[in-house]
Amino acid sequence: MLPKFSYIQPTSLPEALAILEDKDARIHAGGSDLIGCLRDGVFATDTLVSLGAVSELRGITASADGGLKIGAMTTISEIADSEAIGASYTALADAAKVVASPQLRNQGTIAGNLCQKPRCWYYRGDFDCIRKGGEICYAYSGENQYHCIFGGDMCYIVHPSDTAPALAALGAVCRVSSPTASRSVSVDALHMPPAEDPQRETVLDDDEIITEVILPRAPAGLRSSYRKVRSRAAWDFAVVGVALAVVFDGDTVRSARVFLSGAAPVPWRSKAVEDVITGKTLDNATISAAAEASVAGAEPLSENGYKIELFKGLMTEQLETISG
Ligand SMILES: Cc1cc2nc3c(=O)[nH]c(=O)nc-3n(C[C@H](O)[C@H](O)[C@H](O)COP(=O)(O)OP(=O)(O)OC[C@H]3O[C@@H](n4cnc5c(N)ncnc54)[C@H](O)[C@@H]3O)c2cc1C
Repeated sequence: MLPKFSYIQPTSLPEALAILEDKDARIHAGGSDLIGCLRDGVFATDTLVSLGAVSELRGITASADGGLKIGAMTTISEIADSEAIGASYTALADAAKVVASPQLRNQGTIAGNLCQKPRCWYYRGDFDCIRKGGEICYAYSGENQYHCIFGGDMCYIVHPSDTAPALAALGAVCRVSSPTASRSVSVDALHMPPAEDPQRETVLDDDEIITEVILPRAPAGLRSSYRKVRSRAAWDFAVVGVALAVVFDGDTVRSARVFLSGAAPVPWRSKAVEDVITGKTLDNATISAAAEASVAGAEPLSENGYKIELFKGLMTEQLETISG
């Protein structure tokens, strides 16, 4: 059952920040993750601050340097449907189109998608796991077929967002405001590795609000993509996923940013793949070496060793496709 809480609906960002300064409150965006967590007792709060009436947080606009600014309350559907995003930031458009279901994409926002809680069945269930302040990760020696193969330490979740690896590959940055300051946090540094703090998903403080996500100007020669494999064709989270942002100079890879989803507790940067493909043409030998590199150093758990072959296959297909 949903517990009782106060619901405050400010109409401006300063008003929202003032409430967060005064009260131990949680931010409510689309509510598609938050309300389920409250109902299931994953965490509790006395107060929700809705950003739904803060109109300055909505919309997609051009930035002065030729990039794009996406307001934090922009829905995933708006991103999936945006011509500007589809034209220059294909990885983000690809990712937005495969988030959840149409209803959830209409309701869920980009900031909520980046800040959502993990889907581990122990964390979401009646288990006092380490992410909820307990002593152990039940997945480590339990049911772990959907858990991580990289970056596990005390907690073995995978980060659930599809847009996060795409935005990280594209070099996006979050603008963040608190009652006293503003700062920028790049999406590739937004998420908290469990080795640093297994109870937090992001590096944001409780009184900080993401106000917008900034995509840098797309360089000439950029091709990008995101694809995930899920266990069924209907809505589902990534079992494995690959986000690519590759800048080509003719047939040669000038630079690349590669992030994996379904791999680690945070969007997982694969520098090994980037190193293999940079300066090369994407011929069969390079793609094969990149596929092997994508899983180098992986540490599968008892039930998720199948992810190794899936990542290799997906990386191969995505590099073949992006090479044209
Ligand atoms: C059945 C189901 C299937 C799903 N499948 C997928 C999937 O395949 N891929 C995927 O990526 N996601 C998936 N999701 C997650 C879904 O996309 C998220 O629930 C949604 O994007 C969250 O957005 P929201 O606006 O509803 O966030 P909310 O639920 O309102 O908030 C989520 C979290 O973000 C915080 N937050 C929200 N806005 C801000 C802000 N501006 N600044 C700081 N913190 C903020 C909230 O406090 C809360 O902790 C699924 C969810 C469900 C319920």
